[in-house]
Amino acid sequence: MANDFGDADYMSEALKIATVRGSDPKLSPIGCIIVRDGKILASARNRVEEDHDPTAHAEIVAIRAATAKLGLPELRGTTLYSTLQPCGMCTMASIWAKVRHIVYGAGRADVHDMYFEDRHVNTLDFVADAFRDDITIKGGVRRFECASLYYRPGDNPPLEEQGNL
Ligand SMILES: [Zn+2]
Repeated sequence: MANDFGDADYMSEALKIATVRGSDPKLSPIGCIIVRDGKILASARNRVEEDHDPTAHAEIVAIRAATAKLGLPELRGTTLYSTLQPCGMCTMASIWAKVRHIVYGAGRADVHDMYFEDRHVNTLDFVADAFRDDITIKGGVRRFECASLYYRPGDNPPLEEQGNL
């Protein structure tokens, strides 16, 4: 059954997951939860460094956990919450996974370019151009709380932390 949680409440849950090991931007504290019918199916944070896995973004880890839990390769009727606008890989994975709604906190303009793989391709366009017309994406939920976890535009993070280079 659905509960009284709204997007801001679910984003708070994603923020909790994101910061479970701290909130320093060096830790890439990105969190994701996947919700269906008011229930959290899966939650995950970025695990790239600890798993030595460049695909272990929070969204990918959560999608894998949710599909494993359901025993299905798709997540129809779900909402994926991420503290940061999903990158191209995670947006495409969400489309393939049949996620219904993508909701994110901080947007691309709120953070340093290091969180995105392409200079100009905006992942919002992936959703807009998808064959599926039942998928939506929106951002800005708890935007400032989420953005405070990441390197910002104009910051000068160490090159070794810039995973897109
Ligand atoms: Zn990603």
